[in-house]
Amino acid sequence: MSINDWFKQRENRRYTVSASTTADGLPDGIWRKCPDCNKTLYQGEVARSLSVCPHCGHHFELIARDRIAAVVDEGSFEEFDASVGSLDPLRFTTAKPYSGSLEKARSTTGLAEAAVVGRATISGHPSVVGALDFRFVGASMGSAVGEKIARAFELALAERRAVVLVIASGGARMQEGMLSLMQMAKTAAAVEKFAAAGLPYVSVLVNPTYGGVTASFAVLADVILAEPGALIGFAGPRLVEQTIRRSLPKGFQSAESLVDHGMVDEVVPRRELRDRIVAVLGYLTPESVSASAGGEA
Ligand SMILES: [Zn+2]
Repeated sequence: MSINDWFKQRENRRYTVSASTTADGLPDGIWRKCPDCNKTLYQGEVARSLSVCPHCGHHFELIARDRIAAVVDEGSFEEFDASVGSLDPLRFTTAKPYSGSLEKARSTTGLAEAAVVGRATISGHPSVVGALDFRFVGASMGSAVGEKIARAFELALAERRAVVLVIASGGARMQEGMLSLMQMAKTAAAVEKFAAAGLPYVSVLVNPTYGGVTASFAVLADVILAEPGALIGFAGPRLVEQTIRRSLPKGFQSAESLVDHGMVDEVVPRRELRDRIVAVLGYLTPESVSASAGGEA
């Protein structure tokens, strides 16, 4: 299966809402089956619990705006660069033209790009908060995503804000070729400049985070948190298995195993995430920033 097909299959499985019934025979959009405990869940109940299964704690995916809302102080989020979106400089076509994929992603999500970034406060901490939306071409990092992430760090540096990013991504956006790969260096350089000012950056890795995003800004944070069960890596498990010709250990690339191996600092359930971020920002925010908290730059 090509990576394009994989994204397509995943998107269809997770996000299709229609009036028809699902494979489980349940009316779509009202009921949902938990893939872990197999229980039938009422969508309203799932939504009220931040899309976490109330029976077994399975974490369903969330769209970028819901990710942000779950972290920031209510009503404080002010998006910037909302209209920045990728072009199709290479006029790239495989099974379908890249321009068509962009168009479709825009109409499905209502977003110009996979990254949503803005100013917000988190328990009063002045921050720049962002999230990647997996529905948008697998939240892959094209030139616009890279630009928005780099600008987020530049703006946070200029206004002395913390940065909190909730990240899911399939990796680099291969439809943009080298222009996509360049974003790894660009975002990493922006994080480096920001870090030199002593301001805190917290990343939250959610399922799935892969490729060039894992290999750049996602893992350059001061504190790296992850959601339970999230798969995080560079190349996917099948490719790794084929390359090293060995079967992989159980839990390979899971957030839990990455904590054991020192790549992730802590696995935090979604319902505790905001409190944990607030605590981390409290520890890491320099006093000069805390003193001006609440003041607009
Ligand atoms: Zn469940």
